[in-house]
Amino acid sequence: MLKLRLHNTLSRQLEVFKPQQPPVVGLYTCGPTVYNYAHLGNLRAYVFSDLLKRTLLYNGYEVKHIMNITDVGHLTDDADAGEDKVEIRAEREGKSAWEIADFYIKAFKDDLRTLNIIPPTTYCRATEYIQEQIELAQILEQKGYLYRISDGLYFDTSLVPDYNKLSHLPLEKLKEGARIDKNPEKRHPTDFAVWKFSPLGQKRQMEWDSPWGKGFPGWHLECAAMSLKLLAGHLDIHTGGVDHINVHHTNEIAQAEAATGKPFFHYWLHNAFLNIAGGKKMAKSGANFLTLKVAVIDEGWLPLAYRYACLEVHYRKPMEYSKASLAAADQALKGLYREVAALGGEMGEVSPLFREKFVEAINHDLNSPQALAVLFEVLRSQLSNKDKLATIKNFDEIFGLDLIGGGQHYLEMLTNIPPAVQALFNKRQLAREAQDFPLADELRRQLAEAGYGVEDGPGGSRLTPLF
Ligand code: AMP
Ligand code: ZN
Repeated sequence: MLKLRLHNTLSRQLEVFKPQQPPVVGLYTCGPTVYNYAHLGNLRAYVFSDLLKRTLLYNGYEVKHIMNITDVGHLTDDADAGEDKVEIRAEREGKSAWEIADFYIKAFKDDLRTLNIIPPTTYCRATEYIQEQIELAQILEQKGYLYRISDGLYFDTSLVPDYNKLSHLPLEKLKEGARIDKNPEKRHPTDFAVWKFSPLGQKRQMEWDSPWGKGFPGWHLECAAMSLKLLAGHLDIHTGGVDHINVHHTNEIAQAEAATGKPFFHYWLHNAFLNIAGGKKMAKSGANFLTLKVAVIDEGWLPLAYRYACLEVHYRKPMEYSKASLAAADQALKGLYREVAALGGEMGEVSPLFREKFVEAINHDLNSPQALAVLFEVLRSQLSNKDKLATIKNFDEIFGLDLIGGGQHYLEMLTNIPPAVQALFNKRQLAREAQDFPLADELRRQLAEAGYGVEDGPGGSRLTPLF
């Protein structure tokens, strides 16, 4: 099988993937900050890490997948100023920070399930690893990397000679990004908080005792401490969105490598943004915030249509949100289900020729658009129906589009039309013949509610399952 090659942000090159202790692969995905629902952009990041994970599994690896949940310490300003996002939300909603976190964790897990994203081996909440974070900070302190100022304990980035190795940015540029004016006590603009003190005279909901005083861990400490603990010996791949490269991941690396004296993760993979029209990134704080429920499910489209839309774009290319493109993805996926249904139920053999083509696409830095093109080639090929079905089932281990289940479901709905639906359809036929179009439209609406569409063609009307 063609070897798996991945684009490593560290080297900016395509590299042949080699885990440290095969067949196990350690995979760490920066998870959500749980003060709001995930938006479609966030979900793109998790569809991407799922595609990567499924590709690793397809290549025969065992994947130890860790995803953190940031329930404390992510401030409104990434440069360690501002307030804690979870605590602000709690205040606004009159709930405790813990209730807010629990609520959005559940919503997040529901979204992943809806998108057929395989759950990580372990979810780790930042608040459950406070001790590990304090211990990592203690090592950094002993090694002389930290200094104390009035609002917290900071990491001196000038002590790390290759501080910009992930961002590849000249230090001047990184400094600009860090905006020193926010905190004049910092020694260098890029220095960041490892431990922040609770503000004087104010009791935070989430705060802990530490050798430096009551407070809470910095956001970048969390991922470093948890991955070192949970993926010891398997620091293979770390993923996140491109917005994490210059600050969050750069600082994770600085801390972990300063503390251990060893290279941290070997491969860093980053997905490009989901943008709204005009190239603006979809953000939790922006007005262009769209959830899976609002943007897809409430439109009556299949939730997996969003997964399909993500797979149509290579993960390192920006993806543009539009209603029309999601509607098209929904149509395309339903079309696939229909085609799979037409193949019948008999399972044959996976085609070695198409499998090779598929692997060539997917093992080339997860080229999912190319892999989808191979899927369509299979459907149009001379293979027998049962071999097509087996080949598609095999590919779907990576796509995760429920192609076989969706096809069967379509077939069941087509062959077992409920009598009430048939009656509505017949009534609509009569209304059309009587040219009572308002009634015909109303009946079409009722049919849609029952999960059926009507296609009116020159040869007459027919019912089609909407799923
Ligand atoms: P957050 O919950 O804000 O910490 O973000 C969770 C994940 O979503 C991170 O990996 C981000 O890099 C990623 N992300 C945030 N916005 C977008 C976007 N518009 N498109 C793609 N990924 C995003
Ligand atoms: Zn992280």
